[in-house]
Amino acid sequence: MADNRKLEMEDVLRKQRAVHTQMRPEPLSIRKDRIKRAMKLLKEHGDDLCKVMSADFGNRSPMQSMITDIAGTVNFGKYCLKHVDKWSRSEKRSVQFPLGLLGAKAELRYEPKGVVGILSPWNFPVNLTFGPLMQVFAAGNRAMIKPSEFTAKTSLMMKELVEEYFTPDECAVFTGGPEVAAAFSELPFDHLVFTGSTATGRKVMEAASKNLVPVTLELGGKSPVFLGESADFAKAGERIAMGKMMNAGQICLAPDYMYVPESKQDEAIHGVWQGTANMYPTMLENEDYASLVSDRHFDRLQDMVADARDKGAEVIEVNPGNEDFGSSNARKMPLTILKGVTDDMKAMQEEIFGPVLPVKTYTQIDDAIDYVNENDRPLGLYYFGEDSGEREKVLTRTISGGVTVNDVIFHVSMEDLPFGGVGPSGMGSYHGVEGFREFSHARSVYTQPKIDVAKLGGFKPPYGSATEKAVKGMMK
Ligand code: NAD
Repeated sequence: MADNRKLEMEDVLRKQRAVHTQMRPEPLSIRKDRIKRAMKLLKEHGDDLCKVMSADFGNRSPMQSMITDIAGTVNFGKYCLKHVDKWSRSEKRSVQFPLGLLGAKAELRYEPKGVVGILSPWNFPVNLTFGPLMQVFAAGNRAMIKPSEFTAKTSLMMKELVEEYFTPDECAVFTGGPEVAAAFSELPFDHLVFTGSTATGRKVMEAASKNLVPVTLELGGKSPVFLGESADFAKAGERIAMGKMMNAGQICLAPDYMYVPESKQDEAIHGVWQGTANMYPTMLENEDYASLVSDRHFDRLQDMVADARDKGAEVIEVNPGNEDFGSSNARKMPLTILKGVTDDMKAMQEEIFGPVLPVKTYTQIDDAIDYVNENDRPLGLYYFGEDSGEREKVLTRTISGGVTVNDVIFHVSMEDLPFGGVGPSGMGSYHGVEGFREFSHARSVYTQPKIDVAKLGGFKPPYGSATEKAVKGMMK
């Protein structure tokens, strides 16, 4: 079965590459047309996609989906359309003196790589598929997509829609579980973008390495929130609650844990409590609040809280409507704050990816910085406070994929900033001109003047005084 699927995928890859080669050079108008069709697909079927995402999750606010998965992605398409001419212009580079005077030229051309594979996760199933696709198209490539099996209805709808709006040699979607995903990651693409967990990212990179396929890995991790003494704790609480509760915490950039001054712990927790209660006075019947995506994910989080409780953490449920979550089968979970956490707890070892928020305290910010540095480099890092010296200390002494100051997550929504991780939270990035370049081959083109440069420079045997002079000149 998996073998047949692999043969089918190999066949599509071969055909896409053949057409790509045959059609080169494709005018920019074709790239733009593909981006426009992707935007049209999302605009015309946004409502259907939001409904089906909600069905896949159990419940997920169609309004939230409209913002995060549909409108946000269309907007990114607009950004790509606006910049693709500038991005794809070739650049004149300098040549060493005196080659320029002799007529030598150096130029950098951004050329399409060919066929790019996109492996996407379930948490923002449309955005994390069509987002990369916009820049894959902007760079002049064709695409093969394998979306997540956890949001199977959404994946099927994306497949049907792509078949309606694109030819199979422009873009093709393959649905299926981990075996199909593993076979997909073994294909000899010209580039592979993977968004998902660090554990699966390792497997993907290993599979890609067999064919030396370059990869962009958009992974996860534990993104810390630093609250400085000078922070406005009520405002910070509102913002942290919003970032943590959106999609019920199932966001790669969700604030994973908070680091707060010991003396301000209760104030910080109260801020988050209040922020949550303001947005979600009730949760069970509240369409704005998402369910966890599967029983497995729900059980994992329940187990994480039980483990923390057993090991001595204080568990604070933010349940402003006093609802009975235990008797519901909606896979909804209230925000659960863990106070007094220790490193042996699962909540401090795994990426949380749900509505659980451990709180750690510090007496000196340096200790919080050291803790972050001792652990895996996170995808996002957040600092709240008005003390610019402290802010710069946190920023310059830690490493993370990206940073938002005085809020969480927002840096990813800046289209002009590259988005990606570092170390275990990922490699490479998209968004901004960097995303266009990620999916392009930067091809160096040097044009030699008529004069015999090698001889003039002393590089041509027989070696002699010109060579010695050149060597001395280079070493001076
Ligand atoms: P996942 O790693 O379980 O799955 C992602 C994709 O990998 C799916 O399409 C799946 O079919 C495929 N897959 C499964 N087994 C595979 C294998 N052996 N070889 C190749 N592919 C395989 O991740 P998930 O649970 O869907 O998503 C959650 C994770 O994704 C979290 O860790 C989160 O932080 C991360 N994430 C990162 C970003 C980002 O942009 N950095 C965005 C969203 C989610």
